Amino acid sequence: MADMPLVHAVNVTKSFGDNQVLKGIDMDVHKGEVVCFLGPSGSGKTTFLRCINQLETINGGRIWVDGELMGYADKGGVLHRLHDKEIARQRREIGMVFQRFNLFPHKTVLDNIIEAPVQVKGEKKAEVTVRAKELLERVGLADKPLAYPGQLSGGQQQRVAIARALAMRPKLMLFDEPTSALDPELVGEVLTVMRELAKEGMTMIVVTHEMAFARDVADRVVFMDGGVVVEQGDPKQVINNPQHERTQTFLRRMQ
Ligand code: ADP
Repeated sequence: MADMPLVHAVNVTKSFGDNQVLKGIDMDVHKGEVVCFLGPSGSGKTTFLRCINQLETINGGRIWVDGELMGYADKGGVLHRLHDKEIARQRREIGMVFQRFNLFPHKTVLDNIIEAPVQVKGEKKAEVTVRAKELLERVGLADKPLAYPGQLSGGQQQRVAIARALAMRPKLMLFDEPTSALDPELVGEVLTVMRELAKEGMTMIVVTHEMAFARDVADRVVFMDGGVVVEQGDPKQVINNPQHERTQTFLRRMQ
């Protein structure tokens, strides 16, 4: 499976009750690729990210991450449900950054970052602490290891959340609208960190409404609407010259 994409999704479907949210998504993401998902609210972007990370179980189709099959269940019953331990192990390889930062409020920045590598992976605290400090430097917060989340701005907290995800040395990073809960003046500092990460070759899937980021940083943009991929391709091509009417309407509204 050496030439398999890092994420290989085939005909993925997902329903919540009668509401079919994903209607057959085929998607490959290769190592080092940065893919931005665009589309109106409710089109299934977040759900697809959550399926990749097995926060949701898909109802049909298959998803492989780095050649490993993720769990799935069809309507007739459970077909291939992984053990919780197995899911936890697979999730450790995937970093996820949410709209809300979800830091532990009673722990310092440093403790937030070292928690999972120490508790979940059993790494040595001293080693992880060195790495955590390097990561804090990378996200521009070298002076904040002992601060508590409540003492930081939203942009700073989100940068800590990114450092925390990176501390697990993930092979894939998923970003779910990482800047949409931030005051406008704090968006740039988070996007800067993400740009750096992209430059360093991290494989990233980013759900975002930041068109400039998608245009400048993504290798590919995917436009979703109504649970399907409407079009995808080179960012400049899709954003400046969308082929599909639904993409054109969406982009007009974004301006
Ligand atoms: P997007 O990220 O494109 O805004 P979402 O994936 O968040 O879209 O949502 C797609 C649809 O799935 C919406 O109609 C939403 O209400 C529904 N949905 C998402 N999560 C759940 C859930 N846990 N239970 C029921 N419905 C959900």
